[in-house]
Amino acid sequence: MEDKCLCEQNEILIFSCAGSSNVGQTANQAAIRLTQDGLGRYFCLAGIGGHVSGMIESTKAGKMIIAIDGCPVACAKRTLDHAGFNIDEYVQVTELGIEKNHDFNLNLSDIEKVTHDLASRISKRKGILISS
Ligand code: SF4
Repeated sequence: MEDKCLCEQNEILIFSCAGSSNVGQTANQAAIRLTQDGLGRYFCLAGIGGHVSGMIESTKAGKMIIAIDGCPVACAKRTLDHAGFNIDEYVQVTELGIEKNHDFNLNLSDIEKVTHDLASRISKRKGILISS
């Protein structure tokens, strides 16, 4: 495995679909939490979809890409795939047993579940890559 230093929060880019449903907004809140917890940096998926050159270049410079989708429609994954980026860690909120609806009164425990799932995977991956 190629040696990578993942010490810098800015080198881990987090994208969420931020869709117009409870699961899309749960994905959004989880991306914010992960950023606030210092595990990565929330980045603009819309900039990737719009092929904004500065954002494409910044994403190319990243060392790990995390993507969070609300549901199996997988808009964040499709957007990143379309732009030619490989996703290192990925989750769909509905995969974690959270049902999709359009109630924007988000459940805190849902946000924590998604945040915890990715936080443990990012931490594990950082440990693996740093020690290799
Ligand atoms: S992945 Fe699902 S929740 Fe997210 S933007 Fe697409 S359709 Fe909406």
